[in-house]
Amino acid sequence: MPKLTITRTVITTREVIRFYPSDEVNFGWCAVCRKEVFPLTLEQTAEALKVEVAEVYIRLAAGEIHLLDQSGGSLRICSAFLTTEP
Ligand SMILES: [Zn+2]
Repeated sequence: MPKLTITRTVITTREVIRFYPSDEVNFGWCAVCRKEVFPLTLEQTAEALKVEVAEVYIRLAAGEIHLLDQSGGSLRICSAFLTTEP
């Protein structure tokens, strides 16, 4: 009977996503992380997660990502998930 050899190759990659604000940024307070964080728009969050905007709402509802406490203005999301190491 012929001998079977199986070779397994694992490739690990790491992607760095940087967002550069065009204007002065007002950092937002995340009540869950208890720190000031860079505020992301819905679209930036979707891009970072590589999902559709609708999925961002689902993850917000599930508590996987956090909504920032900001008075007025549009929806901003906590960017702490970007710095979480696996
Ligand atoms: Zn947070």
